[in-house]
Amino acid sequence: MQEHLRNTKSFVGRPPFGYVIAGEAKAKILVPDPVQADAICTVVALYLTGKSLRWLCAYLDAEGIPTRRGGSWVPKTLSEVLRNPVLAGRQVNGKGRTLLKVPPILDQDTWRKLQAEMDRKASKKGVAQAGTAMLGGVAVCAKCGGPMYRLNAYNTRKDGTKIDLFYMRCWGTSTEPSRCKNMYPLEELEARVERFMTTTLARWPRYEMVTVPGHGHEEEIYEVERDLRELDFDDPDFTAKQVALLAERARLRALPSVPAFSERRATGDTIGEHWATLKTDAEKREFLQLLGMVIRVRRGKPRDEADPFSEGIPDIVSFETSTASGFLDEFLRDLPQEQGAVS
Ligand SMILES: [Zn+2]
Repeated sequence: MQEHLRNTKSFVGRPPFGYVIAGEAKAKILVPDPVQADAICTVVALYLTGKSLRWLCAYLDAEGIPTRRGGSWVPKTLSEVLRNPVLAGRQVNGKGRTLLKVPPILDQDTWRKLQAEMDRKASKKGVAQAGTAMLGGVAVCAKCGGPMYRLNAYNTRKDGTKIDLFYMRCWGTSTEPSRCKNMYPLEELEARVERFMTTTLARWPRYEMVTVPGHGHEEEIYEVERDLRELDFDDPDFTAKQVALLAERARLRALPSVPAFSERRATGDTIGEHWATLKTDAEKREFLQLLGMVIRVRRGKPRDEADPFSEGIPDIVSFETSTASGFLDEFLRDLPQEQGAVS
């Protein structure tokens, strides 16, 4: 009876992933496919613990669960499955209007968390692609000194599907394009920077530049004028005091005004504590730049590529901090070597 009330229309078309068609002609309904519905619940749980769509595609392939069309998974297909409101019990048309109510695979709470997490990751990805990679302008090529930027190098699997691989790559400048083709895997490099910020630099005090507004001695002049107005006519020293105050007022008004200036101030927290509050790549990048950090990067190579056991050139990832910035004075003073570079 309830089933009948919920499904006032018959389902038309191919069932979405997670469902199969049941019922007679003109009274077709969608019901969860036990295997696919179970896979969706597992994938959603893993996604909410931080696994990427790419990782989950590999997981589904490895579990032997094909797509609706019987193929292997790519992030776009999985994303479409996870974005489909049918998982929460609504089959919708292109405008988002409910066509048919179906038994949900996810409860409302899980569905909302899933959509929010997908939105969050999508916006984060968008920011990074707009050129604010965490190490853009901070990473420098250790071979030629050129700036390194994020590169998305596509690779193709045997079955023709594409996978994204991200690198920091030496680009040189507009007048002198890079010739060294120095590349370093982005994820590994960012992990090394995270480690450096959360261990080596973490305990040192943080400073910020504070702009002190300039002034034309208005406050002091105001006080002198107030004292003048409040002078007591019956005071035997009235005239002497008035002369003195008028002279002081004239002196203050003749003083040059003080321009605004910036000064370094301790914030009271540590570099590590502040780093932990930074959420986006752009914020982290800004802080790395404020600290005056330069990260020199070179990917090591085996000496003889044919012999995997030959001793190669080691990777270089060195963290250099500018002494000029004044933001890392204590850290630099504490270093055994004076150059301020650590590996
Ligand atoms: Zn280079």
